[in-house]
Amino acid sequence: MRAQPKASHYINGRYVEDQGGPALSVTYPATGEQIAALHGATPNILELAVASAREAQPAWARLKPVERGRILRRASDILRARNEELSRLETLDTGKPIQETLVADAASAADALEFFAGAIGAYNGEYIDLGGPFAYTRREPLGICVGIGAWNYPIQIAGWKSAPALAMGNAMIFKPSENTPLSALALAEIYTEAGLPDGLFNVVQGFGDVGAALASHEAVDKVSVTGSVATGKKVLALAGGHMKHATMELGGKSPIVIFDDADLENAIGGAMLGNFYSSGQVCSNGTRVFVQKVLHDRFVERLVERAKTIRLGDPLDPETQMGPLVNKAQHEKVLGYIEIGKSEGATLALGGSVPSMQGFDGGLFIEPTIFTGVTDTMRIAREEIFGPVMSVLSFDDEDEVIERANDTPFGLAAGVFTKDLPRAHRVIGQIKAGTCWINAYNLTPVEMPFGGMKQSGIGRENALAALCHYSQVKTVYVETGNVESPY
Ligand code: NDP
Repeated sequence: MRAQPKASHYINGRYVEDQGGPALSVTYPATGEQIAALHGATPNILELAVASAREAQPAWARLKPVERGRILRRASDILRARNEELSRLETLDTGKPIQETLVADAASAADALEFFAGAIGAYNGEYIDLGGPFAYTRREPLGICVGIGAWNYPIQIAGWKSAPALAMGNAMIFKPSENTPLSALALAEIYTEAGLPDGLFNVVQGFGDVGAALASHEAVDKVSVTGSVATGKKVLALAGGHMKHATMELGGKSPIVIFDDADLENAIGGAMLGNFYSSGQVCSNGTRVFVQKVLHDRFVERLVERAKTIRLGDPLDPETQMGPLVNKAQHEKVLGYIEIGKSEGATLALGGSVPSMQGFDGGLFIEPTIFTGVTDTMRIAREEIFGPVMSVLSFDDEDEVIERANDTPFGLAAGVFTKDLPRAHRVIGQIKAGTCWINAYNLTPVEMPFGGMKQSGIGRENALAALCHYSQVKTVYVETGNVESPY
C-alpha cells in the first residue's frame, strides 16, 4: 500500500522537495508497513515558505471578504467531492477506521471551510457613539499564522486552523505532526484547485524543531498548536518571547458525570463515544466517568456488555469500529498505563490486552479497556492516557462530584447525563471546562466554539470566536467638530 505524495512540502502553490532534510518514514499503523517516505524541512524550505506567505498575504487581505469566502466555499465543495479518497488516505496515515474517517475528518474540515466562507462577510467591527465624535473598530488580519497539528485528526485540524485564518485575510504555514503528514498536502492541493492564490497555504513537514523554528520566526505573527500540554507550554514560551499571538488546543482528563436518573443507554453510549472513538485518541475524551452509587453496578454491567461487542479489525473494512493506535510509542505508553492501573489496585473490568488479529501482526491494537474501582488519586485518573482506557469512579452527591470533577489541572471538556435539567445546568455551570455537553458527548460542530480552560489551552477554535483569534482590533476615533487644544 503506497500513499507517496509528489514531494514532502507544498509551497507557493506547488510541491517542493529538499532531500537534505531528515528522513521521515510514514507507516500504516494497522500493519507497520511503510506507505510514504518524506523529508523534514531544512532552513531553506522554511525561508521559502515564509517568503511566499509574506509576498501573498497583503493582496489577499485587501480582497473583499466575500471574495475570499467564495474561494473557501469552492475548496469545501472539493473536499466533500473527494471525501472517500481523502478518508482512505487518513485511515492509512492514522489507522483510524474508515467508518470514522468518512464522517469525522475531511468532512469536518469541509464544514469549517463552509462555515467561515459564509461567516466572514458578516464579521465586522463596531460603531461607538461618543456624542458627536464617534469611533469605529476594524478587524484586521494578523499577517502570517503558523498552524502546528497533532496526529489524531490531521486534516480536520488543518481545516479548523486554516479556514478562519484565511477567511480573515491571513496566510498560513501549516506543519502537520510527523506521524501523519499526508492529508495536509492534499488540502493544499485542493486550496490551489479552488483558486487560492499561491503562497497563502503552505505545508512544511518536520519534527518538533521545525514547529519551534516557525513559532520563533520573526516574520510570523501568530501560532496555533494542537498537541500536548508539554508542547503547548514550549510553544507558548517561544511565542511570548516574540510577543506573538497564540492559540493553544491541548490535552485533558475530562469528567463525564452520570446521575442516577440518567437514561442508562444514552449515558453508556456517551461514555463509550467519549473513550473509544479513534481508539481513545481524542483530546476532549471523558476519561473519568463518575457514576452515582445507586446506578453504578447496573451501569458497569451494561457498559461491559456493550463494549464487548466493539469490532476491532481491518481499518479499511467499513464494518470495523476500532483500529490501532497511531504509533509504537503511543501503544507502549497506553499499555504502560494499563499496568499502572492494575498495580494501583483498580479492577480491570474489560480488555487490557493486545488482541491477536489475523493479517495484522504488526498492528498496534489494544482492546477497549475499562477500569472500575478507580479513585481520584490514581495516576490513571489524573494523567492523560490518550488510548482506549476508561476509568469508572463512583460518587454520592452533586457537591462532591463537582469538587472531584474540578480536581485536575486540565479543563478541556465535561459532560453531564441527567433527566433533571435544572441540575444539569447547575452542575455544568460549576465545572471548569471550556467545552461541555448535557446528555451528549464529544460532538463538536463548527458552529460552536471549542477549546479549553486551565492547562488545556488558551483561545478558541471554530465559530465566530476563531475569527476573533485570527484578527486584531484597530480603533479609529473620528472628530466631527474642532480640536479643543489648550495650546
Ligand atoms: P505533541 O504535543 O507531541 O505534538 C503536537 C505538534 O507539535 C506536532 O506537530 C509536533 O511535532 C509539534 N511539536 C512538538 N514539539 C514542538 C516544539 N518544541 N515546538 C513546536 N512544535 C512542536 O502532540 P501529539 O501529536 O503527540 O498529539 C497528542 C497530544 O495532543 C495529546 O496530549 C492530546 O491531548 C493533544 N491533542 C489536543 C487536542 C485539542 O484540540 N485540545 C486535539 C488533539 C490532540 P512532531 O509530532 O513532529 O514532533
